[in-house]
Amino acid sequence: MKKVAIYPGSFDPITNGHIDIIERSLRIFDEVIVVVAINLRKMNQKNWWFHPTERLDLIRDVFKDEKRVKVDICDGLIMDYAKKKNVQAVLRGLRAAGDFETEFMMAAINRELNEEVETVFMTTGKNLFFVSSTVLKEVAAFGGSISSYVPKQVSRAVQKKLKTEGEQI
Ligand code: ADP
Repeated sequence: MKKVAIYPGSFDPITNGHIDIIERSLRIFDEVIVVVAINLRKMNQKNWWFHPTERLDLIRDVFKDEKRVKVDICDGLIMDYAKKKNVQAVLRGLRAAGDFETEFMMAAINRELNEEVETVFMTTGKNLFFVSSTVLKEVAAFGGSISSYVPKQVSRAVQKKLKTEGEQI
């Protein structure tokens, strides 16, 4: 049976931290579906930079040569999505201890919702534990370079976003 995992997150935008998790997970899974999970409540607060379709396009571009990585958007419950796609696992990344509590709670509630899908945690890659989309956006907004922590196309998209919408973000 083909082993498939979904990797849900905001990916606003995708970083080398996410990419490292996806690449390493392909040693275990035959296919990984990266799911841009939309939180409609958060969408209204305008605390995001990239529209979900822009995030999806960036992820798709980063993995254009990796056929085992698929990309999708979900605006409902991740566990309903997992059921619909008939996947075996939900993949999550752990950076530091701070991530643990929320992830632990989420895994517990997700098991309540669908006990056939396992949550699989992978620890952060080498020198990537401090990389988060939120922190990188802060650094970029203050003129710092983020090019060591995101792929080229993401770095370009962030610069473009700052130029075109800088005052609103
Ligand atoms: P963030 O906005 O904090 O980067 P996301 O919702 O996009 O978070 O993250 C999706 C998943 O990827 C989460 O499980 C998160 O903990 C994980 N993740 C994000 N960055 C890293 C990293 N640098 N190393 C390991 N896991 C990460």
